[in-house]
Amino acid sequence: MPDNSAGNNAMENSVMKNFIGSRAMPDLVYHSPKEISDLLSMVDAHGTSARVVAGCTDFIPSVRTGRWCFDQELNLIDISKMPVLNQIEKTDDVLKIGASVSLTRILESPEIKEGCPVLAQAVAQMASLQVRNTATMGGNICMASPAADTVPPLLVSDAWVIIQDAQGEHKVLLTDFFKGPGRSVLTSGQVLTHICIPVKKANEAAWFQKIGTRTAVIISVVSAAVRVTISNGVCDTARIALGSVAPTPVRVAEAEQFLEGKPLDDQVIAECARMAAQAISPISDLRSSKEYRKDVARTLVKRSILACREALK
Ligand SMILES: Cc1cc2nc3c(=O)[nH]c(=O)nc-3n(C[C@H](O)[C@H](O)[C@H](O)COP(=O)(O)OP(=O)(O)OC[C@H]3O[C@@H](n4cnc5c(N)ncnc54)[C@H](O)[C@@H]3O)c2cc1C
Repeated sequence: MPDNSAGNNAMENSVMKNFIGSRAMPDLVYHSPKEISDLLSMVDAHGTSARVVAGCTDFIPSVRTGRWCFDQELNLIDISKMPVLNQIEKTDDVLKIGASVSLTRILESPEIKEGCPVLAQAVAQMASLQVRNTATMGGNICMASPAADTVPPLLVSDAWVIIQDAQGEHKVLLTDFFKGPGRSVLTSGQVLTHICIPVKKANEAAWFQKIGTRTAVIISVVSAAVRVTISNGVCDTARIALGSVAPTPVRVAEAEQFLEGKPLDDQVIAECARMAAQAISPISDLRSSKEYRKDVARTLVKRSILACREALK
């Protein structure tokens, strides 16, 4: 005879909540705001039970695999239908990309191809067409994965994000955004609304490369982005960022400083790549050993600087 005591029902409920697969979705209330003011009222009103989502390409797999469980009712706030967050704007100096712009639109945007081609280059290597059609750069950043492929190109481009809450707008440099795997400066009641990127200048070049365990639809084992500006044959500014080699995507400051003020000859490039690999302490995991990650980081940095040098000839 089944025991219908309250204790057993509670246990069955908790088993159902943790069920891996199609029935894993938690009890939720779906919200679809159209204006920023509605969005901010909703995140403010629902506090820690609010979850802002865009493409859901990270949210749904995380729930269905049991990685994320929700004990309390969830208020799912979908920003994908907000026209105000679905725009790519370009001024003379800055590209401003709304948090609900899909990766496909980023890939196809003439403004981004011209103003930040390294971002388009990275997006082209992400996921599949179906995933890119709904996934967003805002979601990729807010997930705060060390392997987020849009982040190294944004870090080398000196990008910043705009976060909004009941108090107003806050500008946060992307270098200050990440706190650890899955953790960022975002707190309850806050929404990332825009990503801003200084527009590429004539004397600069940037490059992105990633290595995975296969060539398509794969999480990076290591990714690297480099941006350099050149004057009179000498490197003026250098930015080097790596993904999947630390708890957050990182810039490697010593290697950047080494490059600045030097000509981009083979010896300088090789030493800079060595320094970049030296600066990181990756972990070994299912996808790769730490030794392999260091070796690949050196190779990707070297190849990326060589590609920049070629583009600036
Ligand atoms: C098959 C497959 C392949 C993939 N390949 C890659 C890949 O090659 N490279 C890669 O980097 N990623 C990859 N991903 C991961 C994922 O697609 C990306 O991270 C994507 O950009 C997430 O965007 P989204 O809009 O779907 O995020 P969502 O799933 O909607 O949200 C992700 C997280 O961010 C939060 N969030 C989203 N938007 C905001 C906002 N505006 N403000 C505050 N919080 C917000 C959500 O609450 C959630 O915690 C892949 C995923 C799948 C399923």
